[in-house]
Amino acid sequence: VSEAGPLVRSDPFVSIVVPVFDEQEVLRTLVTRLRSILDELTAGGEVWFVNDGSTDETSDLLWQAHRDDARLKVLEFSRNFGQPAAITAGLDQARGDVVVLMDADLQDPPEIVPQMVAFYRRGFDVVHAQRRSRAGESIFKKMSAWIFYRLLRAATSGDLPVDVGEFRLMSREVVEVLRSLRERHRLIRGLVAWVGFSQTTLSFERPKRAAGTTKYSLGRMVRLGFDAMTSFSVLPLKLATFLGFAAFVMGCGYAGYAIYVGYILKLGVPGWTSLVILNIFFSGIVLVCLGLIGEYVGRIFEEVKGRPLYVVRRRRGEAPSGDEQAPSDRARP
Ligand code: UDP
Ligand code: MG
Repeated sequence: VSEAGPLVRSDPFVSIVVPVFDEQEVLRTLVTRLRSILDELTAGGEVWFVNDGSTDETSDLLWQAHRDDARLKVLEFSRNFGQPAAITAGLDQARGDVVVLMDADLQDPPEIVPQMVAFYRRGFDVVHAQRRSRAGESIFKKMSAWIFYRLLRAATSGDLPVDVGEFRLMSREVVEVLRSLRERHRLIRGLVAWVGFSQTTLSFERPKRAAGTTKYSLGRMVRLGFDAMTSFSVLPLKLATFLGFAAFVMGCGYAGYAIYVGYILKLGVPGWTSLVILNIFFSGIVLVCLGLIGEYVGRIFEEVKGRPLYVVRRRRGEAPSGDEQAPSDRARP
């Protein structure tokens, strides 16, 4: 299916979810541009702003926007819980046939939304917006982002498209599965990749932040990267096993050498051979045991995340009649 393929779905009601944290400088422009996009949508739409504990004028501006236009809705957190929590809360509120996630700083231009909807109408359940370029970002940010996306892709066994942030459209089916995943350390884009269904990417030029400053400091970026690696891979836990075996094999070679030098050539300090051998032996055992524990911890981790064992895309046959319809002709909730 391409952008020019046949239309298989009718025009959806679109929910746009925007996490907002201290964005007073961009809000006015954002609201204007979002409202004109909402006007453009044939079947209508709504915006859910999730105020993630902002301490500036953001809250007042958001409530004002809601008073001016009831399609703009506001959910306010008691404090800063972070972008993933804000997105999750927005997904819980959104009622649309499709949900679009978007940053508040206009780095994710709302004008692309109709294009995403066009892909949805041609049968795609997830439309990722992929950055073709990153204007106005430092070399350091570009480099760290480049490494981050490649590492992440490796950790999630290649399911995740690179250079994709949270800007994407998701169908109701995908949103419902996503909402059922309640793990604590959540990387939304990783979870979306995990969900499956038919996904595609749409590339766009990423403009620089319209105003204000980035909410992701170096520390937060590192934490995000760490979260991403650890919540999608148990590979670090298995490191001890690999190291243990590698050390053991190399150690055996060296032990042979120690025996030759100590007992056959009878060179070296008395006691050296036995010390070397004992050291190699016990280090190997300790590392392998650590790895073994890591395996179990990894399994406990997988269980605790409590993800469903599988996700059904379509069902025909024994199902109750309400579920027999194709997703596209189901009525809006
Ligand atoms: N954000 C949030 N809570 C936070 C940090 C960020 O809701 O704790 C929002 C922020 O307001 C913006 C989006 O997440 O809408 C992305 O943040 P930012 O643009 O600062 O990230 P960058 O583009 O620099 O990676
Ligand atoms: Mg940004």
